[in-house]
Amino acid sequence: MLNIGCHLSKSKGYYHMGKEALSINANTFQFFSRNPRGGNAKKMDENDVARYLELVKVHDFAKILAHAPYTMNACSKDPGLREFARNMMVDDLKNMEYLPGNMYNFHPGSHVGQGQEAGIEFISEMLNQVLVPEQNTMVLLETMAGKGTEIGRNFEEIKSVLDNVELSEKMGVCMDTCHVHDAGYDIVNDLDGVLDEFDTVIGLDKLQAVHLNDTLNDLASHKDRHAGIGKGVIGFDAIVGIINHPLLSKLPFYLETPNGLEGYEEEIRLLRSVYKE
Ligand code: FE
Ligand code: FE
Ligand code: ZN
Repeated sequence: MLNIGCHLSKSKGYYHMGKEALSINANTFQFFSRNPRGGNAKKMDENDVARYLELVKVHDFAKILAHAPYTMNACSKDPGLREFARNMMVDDLKNMEYLPGNMYNFHPGSHVGQGQEAGIEFISEMLNQVLVPEQNTMVLLETMAGKGTEIGRNFEEIKSVLDNVELSEKMGVCMDTCHVHDAGYDIVNDLDGVLDEFDTVIGLDKLQAVHLNDTLNDLASHKDRHAGIGKGVIGFDAIVGIINHPLLSKLPFYLETPNGLEGYEEEIRLLRSVYKE
């Protein structure tokens, strides 16, 4: 079965997201761990979580994915902002323990002029302060398009972060199809070659999730603007190839396409119809 879902709003709680996912024939979903503009995460509502856990057990959901706010910059030049990022992640991962066995994704961050090396060091350092052996959540670094001074613009940068994390078994990678394409990886004409490179540089065992998006911009544009499935430069045929690739087809796919619930429902219907099992 294709494990697929989309980005949902957490504002009405986990149970509501579970019901919403089911209503569009999704068996997983992604959500922001907190308001994208930062600030405090809401306290977990234990009653909501209990109802949610029962629901996903009955309906056999794939792992869900919490997405850290975009404002979280683990490699900011400003020590105060780095501390802010660390506190957010600590708090988010504490909340994730209410839903054990799921995943937490974050953008490595932007080094804002200090250079990649310094940036990479700050990110690993934060992860070493935040990750604990007892946690039941896998933390994922997202592959980035490389706009501005983003870290994670190529597989080597992701690998460098991972190499310096002590609890490496808690770490994985989320590959965003729009981002890797915009970063210059030709997943349209040479998906095998890109996955081969991923395997050589990072190791495919680290690949835990896929953000499934089309893109508005050309290969290596370093732009990061998502398009609906089949409505961009990647195109429908390449996306069919991605969800059916033997190295990817069992992973959970999360849509971050510009859609409301109905648009997501239609994309999920379409993708399920071309999935070969
Ligand atoms: Fe993201
Ligand atoms: Fe993404
Ligand atoms: Zn993006």
